[in-house]
Amino acid sequence: MIPIPYGRQDINQDDIQSVIDILHSEFITQGPAVTNFENAAISYCGAEHAIALNSATSALHVACLALGLGSGDWLWTSPITFVASANCGLYCGAQVDFVDIDPQTFNLCPRALETKLVTAEREGRLPKVLVAVHMCGLPCDMVKIHALSIRYGFRIIEDASHAIGAQYDGSHIGKCTHSDITIFSFHPVKIITTAEGGMALTNSPDLAKKMRSLRSHGISRDASDMNQPSHGSWYYQQLELGYNYRMSDIQAALGCSQMRRLDNFIQQRNALAERYASELLDLPLTPQKVNPGYQSSFHLYVVRLSTDKMRVSQRDVFDRLRSQGIGVNLHYIPVHIQPFYAAMGFSPGDFPNAMAYYAQAITLPLFHGMTDTQQSQVIHALCNLLK
Ligand SMILES: *Cc1c(COP(=O)(O)O)cnc(C)c1O
Repeated sequence: MIPIPYGRQDINQDDIQSVIDILHSEFITQGPAVTNFENAAISYCGAEHAIALNSATSALHVACLALGLGSGDWLWTSPITFVASANCGLYCGAQVDFVDIDPQTFNLCPRALETKLVTAEREGRLPKVLVAVHMCGLPCDMVKIHALSIRYGFRIIEDASHAIGAQYDGSHIGKCTHSDITIFSFHPVKIITTAEGGMALTNSPDLAKKMRSLRSHGISRDASDMNQPSHGSWYYQQLELGYNYRMSDIQAALGCSQMRRLDNFIQQRNALAERYASELLDLPLTPQKVNPGYQSSFHLYVVRLSTDKMRVSQRDVFDRLRSQGIGVNLHYIPVHIQPFYAAMGFSPGDFPNAMAYYAQAITLPLFHGMTDTQQSQVIHALCNLLK
């Protein structure tokens, strides 16, 4: 029996050929493919600027730096996310705090955010940056969050690692209508892949310029940036402390090819999600709630088990499905209970909705190329366990 993973990449012959073509070409890094990939994202998402990077983690780091996050500042995010959404604040010397989730959408709860902002304003601890994570590919309530950002003066990064191809408010995620910067991940389990890779999108020319500089050592070859005349055609200046966070042309070529397949990926992911929703309807579990006006990319299919109505525990469900070759997973362990964060003083009870979610959540396999037979196997196994 071949195990069914919870997620995996889909690489076809066109993808392979596009990588081979780059290997035969002049540039395998810092050539034209990166710009082509950035332009493909710009035209798909509708943002003005895109900066390809070597991971979403790097994208989050340069996004925070570009927004001026530093020591003495606060970054807030959801506790139900991958650790990278929070770590980027610490990279910049800022402090991190969390806003509890909505139990139905699994996203950061705008009401909890507002309540926490009221208190933070009174105590003089308002956040400088909020990282809004589109959990599983379901967009956050960005209109509400954006309105709060104007009232309380914080900046917004959309962590759309799960959400390329998702739609909200009539546009694709990545347009940055309600945020300063949106970031994507192209890790193989995500919607499209470049093996490792990420991207930052923005409508601000200044933020774009800053992130581009930070991506490559803080070095400029543009005479208008320099503080003295050029020494010659070899000349460049380092103007700030940057990094090597560049994407290679090999990765970008794969990314361009995958971008052309994105709408197909999203369609199939949505069809798989619909089938799960309709065939699991009678079981003691609740899928993520997709409100009208929101279109998920379904990077992940997470359900909450109604553990009070079950004869088996959450852990039994995991163990039994995994023993049948069904690669269920749990996204995510709340970040604030990770030992590294607990050592900063967070207690499990600080975010009760996140903890209740963690005690019930299970990620079912969903990926492009998943067959009907594989999905039937998951559905039957769940019905056998829970009915
Ligand atoms: C995967 C992921 C990241 C990090 O992505 P990398 O490209 O692996 O650095 C960040 N945030 C979320 C929500 C993710 O799922």
